[in-house]
Amino acid sequence: MGWTSLGNLQDKPVRYLKGIGPKRAETLGRLGILTAQDLLYYFPRRYEDRANLTPISQLKEGVVQTIKGEVLLKGQRRALRRRNFSIFQVAVGDDTGKISVVWFNQPYLANYFKPGMQVVLYGKVERYAGRLQMSSPEFEIIGDSDSEEEKDETLHAGRIVPVYPLPEGISQRLLRRIIKHSLDEAVGTMADFMPMEIRSRNALLNLAKSLINIHFPENFDLQAQAWRRLCFDEFFLFQLPLALRKLKKREKKGLVHTVKGELLDRFIADLPFRLTQSQEAVIREISVDMAGTYPMHRLLQGDVGSGKTVVATIAGIMAIQGGFQAAFMAPTEILAKQHYEKIRHQVSGIRCQGKTIKVGLLTGSLEKKEKEKMLNDIKEGKVDLVIGTHALLEGSVEFKNLGLVVIDEQHKFGVGQRALLPRKGRLEPDVLIMTATPIPRTLAITLYADLDVSVIKESPLGRKPITTLHFKESDKDKVYDIAKEQLKLGRQAFIVYPVIEESYALDMAGAKRRYAELKKAEFKEYRLGLIHGRLKQDEQDEVMQKFLQKKLDVLVATTVLEVGIDIQNATCMIVENAQRFGLAQLHQLRGRVGRGTQESYCIMISSEEAEVPAARLEAMVRYSDGFRIAEEDLKIRGPGEFFGRRQHGLSEFKIANPLTQMQLLKLAREEAIRLIGTDPLLQLRQNTLLKERLLRQFPEYERLMVVG
Ligand code: ADP
Ligand code: MG
Repeated sequence: MGWTSLGNLQDKPVRYLKGIGPKRAETLGRLGILTAQDLLYYFPRRYEDRANLTPISQLKEGVVQTIKGEVLLKGQRRALRRRNFSIFQVAVGDDTGKISVVWFNQPYLANYFKPGMQVVLYGKVERYAGRLQMSSPEFEIIGDSDSEEEKDETLHAGRIVPVYPLPEGISQRLLRRIIKHSLDEAVGTMADFMPMEIRSRNALLNLAKSLINIHFPENFDLQAQAWRRLCFDEFFLFQLPLALRKLKKREKKGLVHTVKGELLDRFIADLPFRLTQSQEAVIREISVDMAGTYPMHRLLQGDVGSGKTVVATIAGIMAIQGGFQAAFMAPTEILAKQHYEKIRHQVSGIRCQGKTIKVGLLTGSLEKKEKEKMLNDIKEGKVDLVIGTHALLEGSVEFKNLGLVVIDEQHKFGVGQRALLPRKGRLEPDVLIMTATPIPRTLAITLYADLDVSVIKESPLGRKPITTLHFKESDKDKVYDIAKEQLKLGRQAFIVYPVIEESYALDMAGAKRRYAELKKAEFKEYRLGLIHGRLKQDEQDEVMQKFLQKKLDVLVATTVLEVGIDIQNATCMIVENAQRFGLAQLHQLRGRVGRGTQESYCIMISSEEAEVPAARLEAMVRYSDGFRIAEEDLKIRGPGEFFGRRQHGLSEFKIANPLTQMQLLKLAREEAIRLIGTDPLLQLRQNTLLKERLLRQFPEYERLMVVG
């Protein structure tokens, strides 16, 4: 048995688990589930209390409920009201009665149901034509005579049952079985990495019990405790390196920059606009840091369009005029190119005592030759300002004398990557991180414990507000008409979907299918493009480039659009299934239009059932200020997550939510600071497992964990 926190499980590849062949292992791999340990940390989306199912005769109208019964009849109806509209219907019965269950526009469901099957259904009960029916429920077939998987019936019924987000090709039942199996194998050898003292001081459940109860809760109280413990872990592991970094920073000597100079004066004088007071205020804060002897670690927050880029460029020039280089890292190639073009243009006319500013671009897609040349120029100091993507992090990038690192849209970078970058110079360069995620300041200070925070509070004057509207699904055609009016004026539009592939579990059309449909029907006289995260980077760039060059009128997309893109001719943003997005995401998406001088529109379409999310969408309609919206979201705090779905926002957190668990975050932070204060390098015996666990999550921190 390994002396490790999860026994020998952590490295056991999932393909060795029973029921997982190469194909399913690949599917799981795409979700980041590579080992049995990853499986244990793949948490349920929700639970169903199948110990207390609602008898069909006692179903209440207007309430989401769970029933279990037998499929009696099935049928397919094609409704005549509209073309392309179909209803699939089954009758389900238990000992107390029967009910009709319907799904809309999902004809393929006919393949799943057979009379005689046992099913569990979770959905809202409504009255239709005088009778109760369940509409578009999530379903699970729990007894299927064709299947050999019936033995574990106790995992799927008669208890609180976990419901997982499902990848294609993997069923709830399979996932439950392999997770249960891995749990059984792990708990015996599992040692808790959290030091006893911290556990007892904060009344935390132990790790084994937490993992068991997050998946298969004995009761909801234990589930809540398990949740609390696992969220604490996330916060704590996140805060530890920050605490250590902060401690180390006080020992470090930084570079002293020449923040005043003619190069900068020229640049500012040449700008086609005047800096706002807010921009000037943050520039003052930055220049104090850069002139000082400690390394700067500053977070620059500012709403979409508030003009962060020019502030960053100014910081870059401060570094350059003293003879240093600056690096500017963007989250995507297209953004890197965009910044490159813009900044190069802005600095092109500036010359001072024979010196000009040389700007370079370094991305993954450069030709080998070009790349080598760029790397060489960087090394020899022939470029002053290098703009790029993650490629800047590669080992082969060596600077002559890097003085400043700017990271744009920080939330797309991991905390680990953030730790890596400053290593690029021989001396500790200053770091400026920019983000448009409107996190309330108090939260930002806690979350980014190692950073100072500056905020751009106002946006440049003269921007036209974006007309924001909210429509129901049934009024889609009106929304498309608004878009077409814009297209007729020669403008461009975006249509965004929350998922790529359609999903029957969510009852939702995906970007791919809608792209094909829109192209044939509603937008057939226009040129449409499709972009989503599963396309390769160069394919994404190509589509984006076409859109930029106005070779496309409408861009159908997923949230890959979220960050930074500046396309002035795009005046219409349509977000479908808007209830699926977090407020911060919606706000970012809206920020993609209204960047020129024309009137712009952001139109959110949501399905009729969505009630709680409607409050969020109303907040979008009412407020245009991102910080105000963030505050609203905190007040609403419904099931909607501020940061949207998991893969976005603060990606370090899988389950913890810093906005709703401020208190727990504070506890974790205090514990992290206390621990680092007594054992900064985690060398004490009681912290061995913790250290191992930390380095597993953030291997980059190895180098912080050395003496000196
Ligand atoms: P963001 O904060 O979203 O990164 P940008 O830096 O991209 O915003 O700025 C958005 C647009 O506003 C850019 O076209 C930029 O040139 C312009 N801009 C920046 N500062 C000002 C200002 N003070 N007055 C007018 N326009 C400005
Ligand atoms: Mg920006």
